[in-house]
Amino acid sequence: MAGDDENLIERLRKAGFSRAAIRAAWPSWWSEEAGETPSGRAELRFALARRLGLEPKPLLGERVEFVWNDEARFKHLSTHDDAQKAALTSFGMSVGRLLLRATPSGPIDPIAAEALRDAIMAGSPFVDLGSLLGTCWALRIPVIHLRVFPLEAKSMHAMVVGIDGRFAILLGRDAAYPAPVAFTLAHELGHVMLNHLADAPALIDLEDPALARDGDEQEDEADRFALTLLTGSPEPDIQTNIDHFNAPTLAAAVLRATGEYGVEPGTLALCLAHGRSLWPVAMSALGFIYGERKPAWREVNGIADGELDWDLLGDEAAHYLRNVMIGDNV
Ligand SMILES: [Zn+2]
Repeated sequence: MAGDDENLIERLRKAGFSRAAIRAAWPSWWSEEAGETPSGRAELRFALARRLGLEPKPLLGERVEFVWNDEARFKHLSTHDDAQKAALTSFGMSVGRLLLRATPSGPIDPIAAEALRDAIMAGSPFVDLGSLLGTCWALRIPVIHLRVFPLEAKSMHAMVVGIDGRFAILLGRDAAYPAPVAFTLAHELGHVMLNHLADAPALIDLEDPALARDGDEQEDEADRFALTLLTGSPEPDIQTNIDHFNAPTLAAAVLRATGEYGVEPGTLALCLAHGRSLWPVAMSALGFIYGERKPAWREVNGIADGELDWDLLGDEAAHYLRNVMIGDNV
């Protein structure tokens, strides 16, 4: 029944799903023999529906209906049509549900950025990506980096999903160095702690919140939360006695100042660059600060792999989640 598969894939593609997402969601048990029985074909559709966030019954009749449609809140919305928004939301909710199933549950009380920073600084010289990830997992907020994107264009920076009073963070765009991802994670944690998901099941930052400025109050609040958590101030004032930076001098300056400010050097470089039109210099200074490229997704998903209780998922769901966390090109 190869034709049957192709027809189904075609329907999912028309609904907006990327080939990678369909491939990741395709069950490992699928075979030509399975496709020869009505029950096998039905099981395939039920599995795909669960994983991609689709209504199962319509999919039996080759109709793609999303479980979630316009309930999520999108930030920095540009050109996405409703079907793409529904695909992003439904995929994210289904991945978030799996993450929460494999994470111990517990109540989440809102914690102020200052208190979180104090708790981290009790055991670290600064707040960095690693300590932020440890904090999220300690708060029972799973965090992964999506290596498979629901849409063909990789147009999502990060997403928070809320299910039954619990939260999961899905990071979208990778960076070669940890500091930009630390900012994104701190911003998403801000959305959780500031109760921005009180009336929406998911909140999706399509663009980089560090660069997007569109007068959205929740975005400003989450930025201030992130900066307070990372630097101790919502408006960090980093002084320097050098007027003109290039990448090596900026790197050297922040490496010298990191102890004084209690701010991770890469984050310090980004703070210095912000508002001074030094963004490209800061991005290339990260190479000097870290010495080597360190794709953040490896750290994010490496920690998630150790924290998730895979046994709680069952083989098929675990297979899907691993696909989403590893992607096609390791
Ligand atoms: Zn945001």
